[in-house]
Amino acid sequence: HSFKNYQLSDEINRALHLLKYDKPTEVQREVIPRAMENQDLVVKSQTGSGKTAAFGIPICEMIQWEERLPQALILTPTRELAAQVREDITNIGRFKRIKTTAVFGKEPFAKQKDELKQKTHVVVGTPGRVMDHIERGTLVLDQIKYLIIDEADEMLNMGFINEVEAIIEEMPEQRVTMVFSATMPANVEKLCHQYMNNPVPIEI
Ligand code: AMP
Repeated sequence: HSFKNYQLSDEINRALHLLKYDKPTEVQREVIPRAMENQDLVVKSQTGSGKTAAFGIPICEMIQWEERLPQALILTPTRELAAQVREDITNIGRFKRIKTTAVFGKEPFAKQKDELKQKTHVVVGTPGRVMDHIERGTLVLDQIKYLIIDEADEMLNMGFINEVEAIIEEMPEQRVTMVFSATMPANVEKLCHQYMNNPVPIEI
């Protein structure tokens, strides 16, 4: 198995080389080819499996640099995870000059607002703060083509279901949705059933 199988652009291959990602991990082997065919996916996998790059690589590959509005939204349960995901996506997308903005609580709203005003391709954030930005008109989801819900079980455990549903209602139905979760409790299954289009289940 090799990243060469996926016919990624030179810019992405150079970034993977720099990151010393020599070959895809198991979750990447399952997710990348399907994501590149615009399949909705429900992925049961743990942190440490390489799941961030599993969605980060196809997202970075499909981003159109010229578009002015965000094209991918990644929801995470915590600020720490949002910051980590931003860093990983920035690294994978560096040679495509993909701009990723993280929005989360306990950080000044105005700073995030200014960042969102610049062209940003990918937004990663916690549900509460993402919803704030939508309500105040500082984040527009009209051009979202990829939605990732990371650590979905944690997110729903923390009580974010209303925010998650409200955010999903704000974006185009025509999109790719990927849900990552270590466990698959009934509330995660329900969310997937309601908002996804024939998702392929993947278990690592
Ligand atoms: P994650 O599960 O996304 O938290 O990733 C766990 C760790 O694996 C991170 O430090 C990644 O940088 C690293 N990683 C992800 N994909 C690969 C790969 N294909 N080869 C080597 N390391 C990787």
